[in-house]
Amino acid sequence: AKENGKNQYRFFDAEIEQASDEMQQTRIELKKAITEQEFRLLFQPKVDAMTRLVYGAEALLRWQHPSRGLLSPTSFIEAAERFGMIEEINAWVISQTCHTISQARARGIDLNISVNLSSQQFRNKQLGMHIQSILEAHQVDARNLILEVSATNVTHPQIPFKETLRDFSQQGLKISLDDFGLHPVNLTHLQDLEVNEVKLDRSLTRHVATSAPALAIVEAMVKLAHALGLNVVAEGVEEEDQRRALTSVGCDQMQGYLFSRPVEQQFLFDAFSQLQLK
Ligand code: C2E
Ligand code: CA
Ligand code: CA
Ligand code: CA
Repeated sequence: AKENGKNQYRFFDAEIEQASDEMQQTRIELKKAITEQEFRLLFQPKVDAMTRLVYGAEALLRWQHPSRGLLSPTSFIEAAERFGMIEEINAWVISQTCHTISQARARGIDLNISVNLSSQQFRNKQLGMHIQSILEAHQVDARNLILEVSATNVTHPQIPFKETLRDFSQQGLKISLDDFGLHPVNLTHLQDLEVNEVKLDRSLTRHVATSAPALAIVEAMVKLAHALGLNVVAEGVEEEDQRRALTSVGCDQMQGYLFSRPVEQQFLFDAFSQLQLK
């Protein structure tokens, strides 16, 4: 029995070793992805609920992995955060987004684009300044950039969200509270966090056409957000019935496969000139 126990222990050891080998491998690959510029941005159009006119987009990161193909951020953001690489990656995202905003402007298009920040980044007190310097380098106006922050971690006691969001607001940067409704959130935080917008998570919007209680919950959230002067975006809208239900309870803007999947910059510009999707 003793022998057996020892073997099991050895087996376990080998497993840990393999896991850390994989981590090590991911770390090396991510580093290379940064230096070799293997990242790409796609843009998902955002439309006005009433007119269905395209008014902006959300920048979504992709990793063109040399052997594993095009990867969604869900498969590597956590690792990037763990290895302390997220700031550098997101700085690239913001810079690239500013480039797209200025390219749009050169075509006479006034685009407003949102980017996803990682809650890790809020540990950095210079974050607002840093974003400001990227905007200046590209001569992009702060009002054209929206910073999406997940509602999930926004109450983390060790991260100065409140202070950073106040800085953003003073700099004229717009903030959108992402993943709203995904997890229980203390609604009273909405009154002391300086945000401009909430994004209703797909887990909330997906049932609005088929479940009266789901629609009632969304309606109450829209009312609350509006009472606080916030803009409401519904994400993950896939069906016309969902669009209709969400519009009926007052959602301001929408995003989802019904209108468009995330697309390359050029297609975003094309969508903008066609203006109306669906
Ligand atoms: P998110 O910010 O909640 O983004 C929405 C996700 O839903 C995106 O997945 C988008 O492609 C997908 N989506 C959009 N419309 C629909 C729809 O109608 N139906 C369905 N089923 N899905 C839809 P994606 O691009 O894989 O991104 C996943 C998450 O990765 C994002 O969730 C965001 O949290 C994170 N992320 C994306 N880009 C960045 C980035 O540049 N930096 C950081 N730190 N995180 C990012
Ligand atoms: Ca988002
Ligand atoms: Ca979201
Ligand atoms: Ca999400």
